[in-house]
Amino acid sequence: MSIAQSFLNNDKRDIDGKEAAREIIDVIKSRKQSENVQPGLAVILVGEDPASSVYVRNKSNRAEECGFLSRQYNLHEDTSESEVLELIESLNKDNDIDGILVQLPLPDQIDPHKVIQSIAPEKDVDGFHYLNAGRLMTGDIEDALLPCTPTGSLYLIKKALGENLTGKHAVVIGRSNIVGKPMASLLLKENCTVTIIHSRTERPEELCRQADIVVAAVGIPELVTEEWIKPGAVVIDVGINRITTKDGSSRLVGDVNYAEVYPKAAAISPVPGGVGPMTISMLMQNTLDAAIRKKNHN
Ligand code: NAP
Repeated sequence: MSIAQSFLNNDKRDIDGKEAAREIIDVIKSRKQSENVQPGLAVILVGEDPASSVYVRNKSNRAEECGFLSRQYNLHEDTSESEVLELIESLNKDNDIDGILVQLPLPDQIDPHKVIQSIAPEKDVDGFHYLNAGRLMTGDIEDALLPCTPTGSLYLIKKALGENLTGKHAVVIGRSNIVGKPMASLLLKENCTVTIIHSRTERPEELCRQADIVVAAVGIPELVTEEWIKPGAVVIDVGINRITTKDGSSRLVGDVNYAEVYPKAAAISPVPGGVGPMTISMLMQNTLDAAIRKKNHN
C-alpha cells in the first residue's frame, strides 16, 4: 500500500483529517523538545459569539496540549477598537508570546483590517498580515507565516496524491483572502495549473469538471454536486455549514454534496472530520515556527 493510500481510511476514499491533524501535533511536540523552545500563543476573543467561543477554547486547549504557553483574552462585546489595538501592541512587545490570534468576526465598532495589520508579522500566526500574504503571493515563503486552513488543505491533498502535484489542474471555488486566494497561491507554488471560480464565474460546473483537484471554500451547503466532478478527482471540502434537517435537528455539512460526489471522487475530505481539525494543527505549527525563528534570530 502506498503512503498516500494508507492515509485514506478503510474504504480508501475519505481523507482522514483527524488522523492527519494528530500526526502534525505529534511532530510539533517532538520538534518543540528537540529545538528546546517554549512557544507562547495569545488568543483574543471579543464578545460571546457561541461558535467563536468554541473555536477559541479549542485553540487554547490544543496549545496547552502541545506544551505551549497559552493565554486567552476574553474581551467584552463593547470593547473599543483602541483597547484591542493597545492589547495587541503590548503582546507584540511581549517576549513570552510568539503568536497572536484575533478571533473573527469582530463586533461592528472594530475594523478587522486595522486589527490584523497591527499584529507584528512575525507573530501573525493566522497568516493574514499583508507582509505574509505578499510573501505567499510572490512565492517567497521561507520566512512567511501561511494561513492555516489552506496549508491544512494542501497537507490533505498531498496525503491523497503524494508530494508531487506538478501539472495537476486544481480548481479552487471561492476567492476569499482567508481561504480561496492563499489556497490558489499554494497550489501554484506546487506547480499546479490553477483555476479560481467565484460568484460571477459562468458555467462553473464545466470548469470544475476539468479538475484533478477541487477545493471548495464557498459557504453554500452542498453547492458542488456530482456533475461538477471528474471521475477520479481529489475533493477537499473546506465549507462548514449548519443546516436544519426535516426533523428539526441541525447538522454540519460542507460545500460539497458528499453522498453524490463520494462514488465519483478518488478521495474526499468529509465534513466534519476533514479540513476542520487541520486548521488548529497548522496554527500550532505556525506558533512553533515563530518561536524557532525568534530563537534563531536572537
Ligand atoms: P467567504 O469569505 O464568504 O468567501 C466565499 C467565496 O465563495 C467568495 O469568494 C464568493 O465569491 C464565492 N462564492 C459565493 N457564491 C458562489 C457560487 N455560487 N459559486 C462560486 N463561488 C461562490 O468565505 P470563506 O471565509 O472563504 O469560507 C468559505 C467556507 O469555508 C465557509 O463555509 C466557512 O465556514 C468555511 N471555513 C472553514 C474553515 C475550516 O477551518 N474548515 C476555515 C475557514 C472557512 P465572490 O468573491 O464573488 O463573492
